[in-house]
Amino acid sequence: MAKINVVSKILEANDRMASDNRKLFAEKGLFVINLMSSPGAGKTTVIENTIRALAGSVRIGVIEGDIQGTSDAERIGALGAPVVQINTGGACHLDANMIRETLPSLPISELDLLIIENVGNLVCPAEFDVGEDSKAMLLSITEGEDKPLKYPLMFQESRVLLINKMDLAPYLDVDMEKIRKDSLSLNPALKIFEISAKKGDGMYGWTDWLTEKARDKGRKKM
Ligand code: MG
Ligand code: ZN
Repeated sequence: MAKINVVSKILEANDRMASDNRKLFAEKGLFVINLMSSPGAGKTTVIENTIRALAGSVRIGVIEGDIQGTSDAERIGALGAPVVQINTGGACHLDANMIRETLPSLPISELDLLIIENVGNLVCPAEFDVGEDSKAMLLSITEGEDKPLKYPLMFQESRVLLINKMDLAPYLDVDMEKIRKDSLSLNPALKIFEISAKKGDGMYGWTDWLTEKARDKGRKKM
């Protein structure tokens, strides 16, 4: 009896489309970051602050992924950045095809950096390549220090870990050392930045990293 592995077929089709997206991003010299976290960790606030910090130096576009609603895209649009909202209608992650369908609505030839805000979910966004250059993940300290070992794939797949809501540290009993140690044990190359997106604290490490990556990618434009 023939056995069909549906999950691996879906992922293979996704990978083909992701590599088409990646080719297009290379032609445009566009650096693309896939930002992932659980719901409420502060992704949209990080993006808002990133846009403010890099205004005038890095041209940023945003794709907002949510199951439903447009409130995040409205927040980004209010800052004047080009933005498109994807509503997945129930799907708990973005895939390469959704990104591809969105691209004609963005001025990608005029951008240096595209930030994709994935659906809030610590599991499957890490399994789906959308053609990004790097995945980044955001962990709020309110989620607790056990998350790296409980959701290892997300930490292994990410190039950057932003640890958010550091302004709440005095009120929480969170073991920061354990977060750092467990994250690095899963992914020794992970870059970790401790931030408070709400207050704008510690954002420069992240924004400097993005600026450097966007410039490098722009220089390699085909
Ligand atoms: Mg959001
Ligand atoms: Zn999913």
